[in-house]
Parts: sequence; structure tokens; C-alpha cells
Amino acid sequence: MIRLHVDDDLSGGQTLLLASEQGRYLVQVMRRAPGDEVLVFNGRDGEWLARIDAAGKREVRISLVRRTRTQPPPGGLVLLMALVKRTPLETTVAKAVELGVSEIRLVTTGRTNADHARIDRLSAIAVEAAEQTGRLDVPAIRPPEPLERVLEARPGGGRLVFCDEAGDAPPLPAALGGMAPGPLGLLVGPEGGFTPAERSALRSRDGTIPVSLGPRILRADTAALAALALVQAVLGDWRA
Ligand code: SAH
Repeated sequence: MIRLHVDDDLSGGQTLLLASEQGRYLVQVMRRAPGDEVLVFNGRDGEWLARIDAAGKREVRISLVRRTRTQPPPGGLVLLMALVKRTPLETTVAKAVELGVSEIRLVTTGRTNADHARIDRLSAIAVEAAEQTGRLDVPAIRPPEPLERVLEARPGGGRLVFCDEAGDAPPLPAALGGMAPGPLGLLVGPEGGFTPAERSALRSRDGTIPVSLGPRILRADTAALAALALVQAVLGDWRA
């Protein structure tokens, strides 16, 4: 069934007017008509079954029938992603949402060569990925900030998995095996990698767990997605 993300609060008996682009998608593109059902969620109030009441050119209205799923508690997997070029950044955001991150914090480092990202566009990509993937929360995408400042906020409760391409870190599954599940930050560097100073500061910081992703140097987007899959498998919601 089609799932739509809406901004409105959701409660029983309510009628919603869909945003014009969403209405157009539902009626013109997907050919839904009055009486048809869709699922809606807002990231706060679970998922609701809704019925289309009116499917006009200018106005598409739906009414909420019943709650189909309750809102799950937020997970604690935070991706700290160095700014990379637009295309790999957008891929990373979409796929990281599919893989279950709860928040993405963009970071600038010594070797990032941009300090700006289209947060509105990245957030729309996150919404789309959440709609498609069936999850009920939409991860926030935080605008770029210097790495040190982001670390001060202790994302993931201070536990930081550091994807360290230098080669002498233990492989991720071994490094995380035996750790308790729970909130976690995962840091991936820019195309130019981390500077030696950043690397030693990260390594001497309390709570940093340096990990390797194997013998090949991966592109930053590949590294982020490979690491997220492994974290989910070892500590996250891919465990049996
Ligand atoms: N230009 C750098 C590579 C940067 S790759 C160099 O040649 O060394 C971009 C980021 O992906 C890295 O900063 C790291 O966080 C991650 N990464 C890539 N390959 C990795 C690997 N084999 N192990 C751990 N992290 C890796």
C-alpha cells in the first residue's frame, strides 16, 4: 500500500488535506480514487490507515480510519558523515535511512572541500526513503558542523565507531563483537581521508572505537553503507 509522510498530528477520526504535490502524486500518478486506502505517518504518532474522501484536481482529502502501528522508540544509531560531493552525499542519506540510522550529522574536517549542503533537499530524500522503507520515524539531517563541535555533543552517547582507513585498526565485526547494544555514533571521513592530527585526536579520545572495513580503500559513501550494515548485523536490529 502507498505510504505517505505528512506533517499533521494524527489522531482518530481526523480529516487531512494533502499537500498539493502529494495529492497530485496519489491521484494523477498513482491513480487512486475516493474510497481507496493509503497509509500515513508523521514520525511521531505511529502509522494510520486512511481513506481517500475527495480526489479533486485542486484538493485531495483523506480521513484517518485507525492506527495500524504504534510509534517505536527512537533508535540510537547516529551517522557522522564528512561532507562529500552532492551525488554520493545524497546516495548516503537515502541508503543510511533505509539501513536504520536515527540521525545524520554532517561534519566538516581538515580535508572536506565544502561547508554547505542542501539540507532541505537531503531531508526530502530522507522522507522519501522512510516512506518507501516502512519505517515510522524520519531521521533528522543536521547541517554541517566542524568535527570537534559535533563530538562535543556526544552523539550516540559518546560511543564512536571511527572508520579508520589507515589499516591497523581491527576489523569492524571483531572490534564491536561482545559490546553491549545501545546508542552509537559512526564516523566516516571525506574523500581525502582524515588528517594525521585528526586521526590521533580521534584515537586518543575516550569512547572512540577505531575499526577497519577491510584491505581496500572504499569511497566514503561505500564505507558508510558497508559500516552501517555491519553495525546493524553485530549490534543493531539485524540480530536474530
Ligand atoms: N583518501 C583516503 C581515503 C578516504 S576514504 C586515503 O587514500 O587514505 C573515505 C573514508 O571512508 C575514510 O576516511 C574512512 O572513514 C572510510 N574508509 C574507506 N575505506 C576504509 C577502510 N578500508 N577501513 C576503514 N574505513 C574506511
